Order: sequence, then C-alpha cells, then structure tokens
Amino acid sequence: MKWKEQILDLGAYQPGKSIEEVKKQYQLESIIKLASNENPYGCSPHVDEALKQMDSSFMLYPDGNASQLREATASHLGVDEKQLIFTNGTDELVQVISRAMLEPGKNTVMASPTFPQYKQAAIIEGAEVREVELVNGDHDLAEMLSAIDEDTAIVWVCSPNNPTGIYIPESEIRDFLRQVPSDVLVVLDEAYYEYVTDPYDSLSLIDTFPNLIITRTFSKIYGLASFRVGYGIASENIIQQLEPVRLPFNTNVLGQRAATTAITDQAFVEGCRKKNTAELEKYYTFCKDHQLDYFPSQGNFILIDFHLDGDEVTEFLLTKGLIVRSGKALGFPTSVRITVGQEEHNEQVRSAIKELITEKV
Ligand SMILES: *Cc1c(COP(=O)(O)O)cnc(C)c1O
Repeated sequence: MKWKEQILDLGAYQPGKSIEEVKKQYQLESIIKLASNENPYGCSPHVDEALKQMDSSFMLYPDGNASQLREATASHLGVDEKQLIFTNGTDELVQVISRAMLEPGKNTVMASPTFPQYKQAAIIEGAEVREVELVNGDHDLAEMLSAIDEDTAIVWVCSPNNPTGIYIPESEIRDFLRQVPSDVLVVLDEAYYEYVTDPYDSLSLIDTFPNLIITRTFSKIYGLASFRVGYGIASENIIQQLEPVRLPFNTNVLGQRAATTAITDQAFVEGCRKKNTAELEKYYTFCKDHQLDYFPSQGNFILIDFHLDGDEVTEFLLTKGLIVRSGKALGFPTSVRITVGQEEHNEQVRSAIKELITEKV
C-alpha cells in the first residue's frame, strides 16, 4: 500500500504503564501512578456536580464552537473569544498547527529533549525536523535562532519544559521573539503554566508578537486529562487560519462542561500550585541530602539523575508499586521523571529511592 514513506518506521506513542497492568504484573494491592504529570489532587469538586446536572441529550453533536467554554476561558484570561481555539487536548493542537503549516520542503525547529509530539507531527507531515540540544535542561534559544532559515515554518518552545521543568524567563523569551522572523510561527507550550510560582504575563506577548501562539491545557493542573481539552491563544488571524484544519466536533460535550466549570474554580488551582511547590522543595532537600542531581522544576514533576540505568530505577520503583517514567524514552537515559504527588506518596517514593541507592552503594 501507498503509505507515506516517513511513517513506515515511526513508532506509536508509548504511554506509561497503567495501574491495572502493574497490579497484575507485580501482584500488588496499592499502586501509585506518578508517570504522566496528572494532578494528584484530582479536579475541582464543582466538576462532579456540574456533570451530574447535565441533561443527557447525548444523541446531539457537541457545540463545535465550544461557546460556553470559550466565553469562560476568554473571561478568565482577559482575551477576546476570537483569540481562542479549543482542541482534543493540546496534542491535537500540535497536530492542527503542523497540518496547517508543515510539508516536505519546510522545516521546524525545536529543543531536544522536549515534548515528543512536536517531532512526531512534523515527521508525519514530511517536514524536516531541526533539534537543538538543551543546555542544562534549558532551551538554547540562540542556537534555535541560528537554526531558523527561510524554509522554517514553526519554532516550538516548551516552558516549563517537559521533561526538565525549566521555565524560560520573560526577558529571554522577549529577546528571542524579537529576533524570530515575523513569518515564522512560534508555539509557546505552557502546559504547566499554572504551576509556575512566579509567572510573567505571557499572554501580553501576543499583542506585540502576532506570530506567537500560546498553548495550554486542562489536563495538568485542572486535573481533567481524561476529558481531553486543550486550547491555543493567539492573534485572531492565526486562529482564523487554524480553524479550517480543526475537526468540526473535536471537543466533546462532557469535556466542554468539565473544563468550563474547572476554569471558574481558581481557588482549587491555587491550592494545587502551593502544595506542588511545597512538595517540590522536599524533593530538592532530599536530592541534596543524597547527592542526587536534579533540575529545579516549575512543573509538577522532577527529573532526577541517578547515574544508573533509568529503566532499572523505574523497574525497581515498580516493584514497590510506584509507576514513574524512565528517562530512557525521554532523552535522559540515567534519569527518571517523577510526577509530584500527594505528600505521603512522595514520601513513599523517597523512601524507595533511599532503599535503592543504599543498596547500590
Ligand atoms: C502533557 C503535555 C501536553 C499535552 O496535554 P494534553 O492537553 O493532555 O494533550 C502538552 N505539552 C506538554 C509539554 C505536556 O507535558
């Protein structure tokens, strides 16, 4: 059959192990999943209520314009409703942007390691992928600028970066945006924006830089990963150009309702951010006490370098009922990425790590 050449060797996304899988494999009663940066505190309690109160007209298509969610999001962010696009998770927005711009003969610039979907989408569209190595877990924006040429369509910037958690300061982003040619789209992926302790107002950059789109999600701090709702914020022109590429009913009725409710409960969001910051601090102290290298993180995860095989560390933690993500698949072969969970779960992780490293010494 006539498959695109570039997808022949392309692997499918490998999700972290599921709780059920690990239970079965290791004969364990209790499993803690800290592998996909989901919110360990769930979601706003109002979401449950709102979903119960829905009339079940499930034979109808959802509102393709996501009007209520659009209104609530625009109002929360202080942007115009026409500056928003809603998608089936940010994952789909990555795909929509790539479909709209990339093709053979064009190229796209991104950091490495970073969120893998940018590269995946670019390969599928047949575009050239230009990866620029991180420096100390941080984007090398100067190198990324040099990688741009007249065939560059998209530059991806992930801040805080997954999997390192490093957040790019405002001055560096501004400086970068000033130098990117105005016909190159910059995608600033802010999936973890709400976790940042002292964020700058990145949305204000959109007015200055009409070639910028910021992506955010309801999957992380809002705790709605299962509903698949992400969104982009940009100038009206960019949104208008992306809209025809988006599938008509890409966000579903439950997801729209859940997200609309969640965004109005900012007290929940703030509580999660504070707990996350406090729990991260405990990880830092632990790592320092045990001479483990790590990146200071502005997300709800921490990448710890054990200077051991990442798969082996992951495997060891699995035997304790702890699912984490091996750095092997993330570009950091001797590290492990751990989602910051609830206090007692983090303590369990640290005591398991302690056991592992005392064993190995
Ligand atoms: C989790 C994550 C996303 C994807 O989120 P969805 O909205 O669930 O598709 C996007 N970017 C980064 C950096 C992420 O870590």
